[in-house]
Amino acid sequence: MEGGSDRLRVFIPTKDGTRIMERSVKKIDLSKLSIAFTEKSLCTRCGTCVGVCPEKALKIGEDFYPELIPDRCTECGLCKETCPGGKVEYLDLAEITFGKREDAGAFDGHVEKTFMGYSNDERIRAGGAGGGVITGLLWSLLKNKVVDGCVVTRMNPERPWEGEVYIARTYDELLQSQQSKYIIIPVNRILQELKELPGRYAVAALPCQIHGLRLYSRKEAWVNEKIYTIIGLFCASSMEPYVSTEMLETRGIKPEEISNFGFRDGEWPGYIRAYLKGREEPVHLHHSNFKDGAINYLTYLYSPARCQTCVDGSGEFSDISVSDAWTRDQAGRYMFQGQSKMLVRTTRGREVVRQAMEAGDLIAEDVTDNPQFKTHRLHTVKKGLNNYLRTDRWRAKGIPAPLYDRPTPENDFRDRMNERLESLAMWMGRKRWRRYPLFRFLTSRWGVPIIKVRQWIKSRKYRGTAK
Ligand SMILES: Cc1cc2nc3c(=O)[nH]c(=O)nc-3n(C[C@H](O)[C@H](O)[C@H](O)COP(=O)(O)OP(=O)(O)OC[C@H]3O[C@@H](n4cnc5c(N)ncnc54)[C@H](O)[C@@H]3O)c2cc1C
Ligand code: SF4
Ligand code: SF4
Ligand code: SF4
Repeated sequence: MEGGSDRLRVFIPTKDGTRIMERSVKKIDLSKLSIAFTEKSLCTRCGTCVGVCPEKALKIGEDFYPELIPDRCTECGLCKETCPGGKVEYLDLAEITFGKREDAGAFDGHVEKTFMGYSNDERIRAGGAGGGVITGLLWSLLKNKVVDGCVVTRMNPERPWEGEVYIARTYDELLQSQQSKYIIIPVNRILQELKELPGRYAVAALPCQIHGLRLYSRKEAWVNEKIYTIIGLFCASSMEPYVSTEMLETRGIKPEEISNFGFRDGEWPGYIRAYLKGREEPVHLHHSNFKDGAINYLTYLYSPARCQTCVDGSGEFSDISVSDAWTRDQAGRYMFQGQSKMLVRTTRGREVVRQAMEAGDLIAEDVTDNPQFKTHRLHTVKKGLNNYLRTDRWRAKGIPAPLYDRPTPENDFRDRMNERLESLAMWMGRKRWRRYPLFRFLTSRWGVPIIKVRQWIKSRKYRGTAK
């Protein structure tokens, strides 16, 4: 056996007690494997390594981290070469995606056209996180037979407090994927299935998942042949899988009691709600809508360590990136309720949007030259500056942090203090005994005045200036 083997003690429960057995387990050179096996905290849980492994030697384990089946591993190194966890090389990704080794050097990345719009299908628009643009584009591709299926996500029907990836082939299947699931889902594990299937597919994915897909496409030709287009989501941060069960706990609900869970359920911008088995009316898990309340502390308290040092906020290597349209008017009201912004990056992306508009599936306005449609400032500061500063600070302290071939943007004392404050909120989230009481308080009636004060501050901030 190459590399030798280790003797592993196996505990087998029997009727009369526990029997201890020893068995040989293949010894693996961990440096050949993806980052989860050498520095777990750098794993984005994108699922790429599980999806690409030719030997099916990796599976999704606890909390959605990959797990190794040592006897199957041949130490081929493919999982390491396609892993976006430990380092992200922007020049390589730009070359793979746009055919030129040029770093766009801007938060939004390389953008050819910007559109603002919504799906022309009533159900798709009403059920979407924003304007239902992602589902609308996917449905247009599916309906017009450009693709045979779409790689999307939903809350797991058997375990509705967790997310899962699946392939949608019909309108009804696609509707199940609507909404943002602000929770870890190892989307790229689906590559294992996709490899074996005939046909062409469209994929909706987060920035780190797109990095994994692009790196894999460099290794195996079938990836570009089968994946017709990648639609990216903006991403400030995902959340640890236990966010949903802790939210349910604040209302005394056991996970097994629910049939569905929504982060942005109902009317735009959506509410965090759970559906109890046998009841039609949802239970509100929070006293405010997602944007004005929960999102402001959830993504700090439940942010995974790897998300805290992730610097791709706009899905820079997608064909089309879709984001919320949080632009406010002078009274602080949202100007584009139920709409989404699209950044078109590639020729394929242009084609997808053009086809959908011509087919009447997408209503969109070209806003490329309108400065009002700039990316939300808070988002650009969080990922475009704070996460760089945190990455540098962690590395200097010997805390594992990813490597980027991009310099940290210029910053001053105030920026560094701002990052420290944000880090403090994230530090609160690291231990349940600190996180849970705070979270319970913020999502209770006692948290409502805080939300009201915040809304008042926002309305004053936007007075006299549309942002
Ligand atoms: C973790 C996360 C963080 C985000 N952060 C921001 C942000 O900071 N700023 C911003 O403007 N927008 C952010 N978004 C995107 C935003 O919430 C909307 O998803 C986006 O505007 C698309 O809206 P839509 O109505 O067009 O999508 P819909 O038509 O509702 O379709 C949603 C699509 O997203 C996919 N999806 C949902 N959750 C996941 C997931 N966890 N992993 C992979 N795919 C998923 C679904 O499969 C579906 O295809 C985030 C989304 C997620 C999931
Ligand atoms: S490929 Fe993705 S899931 Fe696998 S170790 Fe790397 S970051 Fe984690
Ligand atoms: S067989 Fe190759 S891809 Fe699979 S786990 Fe081993 S090194 Fe990684
Ligand atoms: S913040 Fe980065 S690492 Fe975390 S889910 Fe979003 S894209 Fe992936």
